[in-house]
Amino acid sequence: KAALPHSPLFDALRRHDPDSTAIVHSRSQRSFTYGSLVHDVADAKDRLSTHIGESLAAKSIAFMVENSYDYVVTLLALLASNARAVPLAPSLPPAELSYLLEHSEVSALVSSAKYDALALKVLKDGGGKPLRHVHIGKLLTGSTIRDDISFDGHVDVTGGIMLYTSGTTARPKGVLLDEEVLMAQANSLIQAWKYSATDRLLHVLPLHHIHGIVNALVTPLFAGSSIEFLFPFTPDAVWRRLAQPFLPDDQPPQHQRAPITFLTAVPTVWARLLQTHQDLPPEVQRAADEAIRRENLRLNISGSAALPVPVKQAWSHLSKGNVLLERFGMTEVGMALSCGLADVDRIDGSVGWPLPTVEARLVDTDTNEVLSKDRSETGTAKERSGEIQLRGPTIFKGYWCDEQATQKAFTSDGWFKTGDIAVQRPVSGTGLGHSAGDPYFILGRESADIIKMGGEKISALEIERELLSLPQIQECAVVALPSETWGQQIAAVMVLSKEGKTAGTNGAAWTAMDMRRALKGRLIAYKIPRRVRVVSEIRRNAMGKVNKRELVASVFDSAK
Ligand code: ATP
Ligand code: MG
Repeated sequence: KAALPHSPLFDALRRHDPDSTAIVHSRSQRSFTYGSLVHDVADAKDRLSTHIGESLAAKSIAFMVENSYDYVVTLLALLASNARAVPLAPSLPPAELSYLLEHSEVSALVSSAKYDALALKVLKDGGGKPLRHVHIGKLLTGSTIRDDISFDGHVDVTGGIMLYTSGTTARPKGVLLDEEVLMAQANSLIQAWKYSATDRLLHVLPLHHIHGIVNALVTPLFAGSSIEFLFPFTPDAVWRRLAQPFLPDDQPPQHQRAPITFLTAVPTVWARLLQTHQDLPPEVQRAADEAIRRENLRLNISGSAALPVPVKQAWSHLSKGNVLLERFGMTEVGMALSCGLADVDRIDGSVGWPLPTVEARLVDTDTNEVLSKDRSETGTAKERSGEIQLRGPTIFKGYWCDEQATQKAFTSDGWFKTGDIAVQRPVSGTGLGHSAGDPYFILGRESADIIKMGGEKISALEIERELLSLPQIQECAVVALPSETWGQQIAAVMVLSKEGKTAGTNGAAWTAMDMRRALKGRLIAYKIPRRVRVVSEIRRNAMGKVNKRELVASVFDSAK
């Protein structure tokens, strides 16, 4: 008999109204209720153990499934089996997939029809120990409701979701988020962002990353919200879906679709939405403009990389004041800092304050001194930056199979060292009051964005913010290059905007010289990039992140 465990997550799933919508496939409009979800998960759990033929408890099981109801059933069935669920990004090169299978000590790989061939290839070429392959069709009957399923099993939950970090600075690291940590993250977000059963979230993110899985799937499932997968993502499809409920009323009510109330995405998605808005037919454009007003789209959130202020401002303009809410998080800690629900608490360039249950502090990495949390009280001390360190129930316990990295990542008294540098700056008139302290502004990663030039530490992110405020520049990345005199020097890679392509002398494209001239007076002279390259594109990964080491190698090293 199939049984689901008693645990906060599964108890919540059972408590939700069984007739309410859990998952929707946006393109086909197929929808699945919480009632069928709970049933199918119990069923799939049963079949998993039959097909794998041994207890799954404390085993790593990888899966490659497109964003869909089947993905959700697979993930939850693995959690209910006490397995470690390892979601793999099918877009990774096969060699990288083989590495992850081996590193996470996977005993079986589940795949959907779309990825069966890839799964079999990876298993065949992997060279590691032979693994079982389960085709997802064997887990999901999708047919009649079985009546031998009971939901009162008592199982200790010991598994979790094993996520790999984005690999922006080094090889991806394995992070096991057990159910306790996952639920702590979900509870913190529900308190802050008020997910509810009346929310309908449009899901446009990859499902192998914390943003897509925790913020946009596990948390809304826990809260009983509806999640609509728009897969594959295109900006045009997002606009049309947002607009649909607000188009002139010529459709029968059963074809009317619920307005989207919640959209969380990475900065590149917001930028692409803004770029494509003008291509919509006027009628769709009008409906879309209404759909993104605050009274309809309750929450629009950006994270995973720094949100360019011009993107934020353009979105506010288009949505008549629905300000994007920026937050800071990472695989190891879930979400840690966030701007607030009130407009005055969505400060340009800031990621806000610690989320509920998260303790945060800044530490000077040279002296190990803990910086004062509340500088506005101490007066006008020179702004000091420090590493963000975090503590609390939402933080992971250690890297998978990497004791050394784990030891390096925590202080002796249990603070997690994020490697991200920030400052707290007083901002007047926020709604959160003095007790929240000053809001945080991210300066970047110590390893990739803090440029050490002649004893000075310079934030690449702050220079990027200035560059992006110039209308001639569409995208940019500021990097450090080695310098014999200064240790490091500042370089910039930029993509010109439409305007920038004709903004130079005599209508020619903008040049490095033009850029340096424009930055005079905006940046102190030594922070103006010395070496500049104009490129047609800056490569970003699925989460909108730039790998700066690769960028330097491809743009500057090859030019030597
Ligand atoms: P790896 O650890 O493998 O190098 P990664 O750090 O990019 O990869 P993630 O856990 O996906 O992997 O990303 C977390 C990082 O993303 C943070 O440490 C931070 O540098 C960056 N980040 C997240 N949100 C923001 C934000 N709002 N502004 C600036 N940076 C952000
Ligand atoms: Mg990281």
